[in-house]
Amino acid sequence: MTDVLTPVLSANWGDERAWKLHNYERRGGYQALRKALAMEPSAVVAEVKESGLRGRGGAGFPTGMKWSFIPQNNPNPKYLVVNADESEPGTCKDIPLMMASPHTLVEGVIIASYAIRASHAFIYCRGEVLHVIRRLQQAVREAYSAGYAGKNILGTGFDLEIVVHAGAGAYICGEETALLDSLEGRRGQPRLRPPFPAVAGLYACPTVINNVESIASVPCIIGNGAEWFSSMGTERSKGMTIYSLSGHVARPGQFEAPMGITLRELLDLSGGMREGHQMKFWTPGGSSVPMLTDAHLDIPLDYEGVASVKSMLGTKALQCFDETTSVVRTVLRWTEFYKHESCGKCTPCREGTWWLVQILKRLEAGKGEEGDIEKLLDLCENILGRAFCALGDGATSPITSGIQYFREEFEAGMHTPAWELFPYERSSIF
Ligand code: NAD
Repeated sequence: MTDVLTPVLSANWGDERAWKLHNYERRGGYQALRKALAMEPSAVVAEVKESGLRGRGGAGFPTGMKWSFIPQNNPNPKYLVVNADESEPGTCKDIPLMMASPHTLVEGVIIASYAIRASHAFIYCRGEVLHVIRRLQQAVREAYSAGYAGKNILGTGFDLEIVVHAGAGAYICGEETALLDSLEGRRGQPRLRPPFPAVAGLYACPTVINNVESIASVPCIIGNGAEWFSSMGTERSKGMTIYSLSGHVARPGQFEAPMGITLRELLDLSGGMREGHQMKFWTPGGSSVPMLTDAHLDIPLDYEGVASVKSMLGTKALQCFDETTSVVRTVLRWTEFYKHESCGKCTPCREGTWWLVQILKRLEAGKGEEGDIEKLLDLCENILGRAFCALGDGATSPITSGIQYFREEFEAGMHTPAWELFPYERSSIF
């Protein structure tokens, strides 16, 4: 079974002090940068386009295409911003990557900046993960002293300043335009799109914003070629990626595998569900995407496969829950998260998530009222597509899919508390 794993991004994670520059270089680190600097910037963009790499932050937008949107005839500066504000519930792939191998990201940042002709790059990291920020800062310092960053990089005349910026810990700042506001020193709230950041981003200048894993995938694409990358994965979802498994699994963690692997295969690698328990429901990408059940264990985990069962791949954070878990309680916990993290800018999300929590709380307590399920669905319908950004849409996904697959548990909330049906002590999570 282990041959389905394709460690590329995680190949050096087990090495001693893998985060140090000399150890990264010993494994061929920064050779891809040398190769890229000998190419025309447009050829680097073309190579990434050709590889089929799609954004690993959740939405799966083609990375090379995003880079090609940067208008090169625009006299304003161009910026690269790395979204390292990983905070989707259950998502834990970027933080381990940055801790174990920060130079994979830094090398990707330099290549991407060269490709889009940016002279400044920002890595926007969650403020809470101080250890990650320190590790990134150290890696950036090492890159500067080795001549990979700063003025006249490797004698090519290319200049690049790299800044590691600490956010203040708001989920909304992972939304790309809220992130830009935060980076500019304002309260992080989403902006209207279009214009997309590629046209008017940081300081209203053309900006590419990519997730950590997307940028960290660039060195291996340039180093090994687009064809090598696109030989992995499925027809429309190319390459390998990091899946994170959490919840009631025997061995949770990060598993790097080709796009399109199934959860059943990943569960084989992670020792299955915890002993004596069965899968009840799971989410393919954090909590912002519709949940699935044990009937979906064999769908390919790529953008198209997951969409075929009306869910989304999202961040590839596979949260697995066994039969001891109350769906109503789980959905309530997630909805409380969205209510807390709603930035308050738009009414459907600010007010809607508050009302959703009120109704779910009564259902959890066995004090649901007649018509509560219809009210939940009506609220979700009025949030979905009407909120300012994806946060509101995401908040509705666990509720509508939870009712779709486990309606009887919501109905039981009219008379029986969830803690009687699913005692806390039997579930180690919720
Ligand atoms: P989106 O599909 O609107 O955009 C994706 C990217 O493509 C953005 O960078 C956007 O600027 C770009 N883009 C889209 N259309 C464009 C166009 N016409 N021209 C130029 N650029 C264009 O998705 P989104 O709202 O940015 O993100 C939602 C996703 O974020 C969800 O899938 C969710 O899974 C994910 N998410 C991730 C985390 C995390 O911690 N990694 C947290 C919350 C949500």
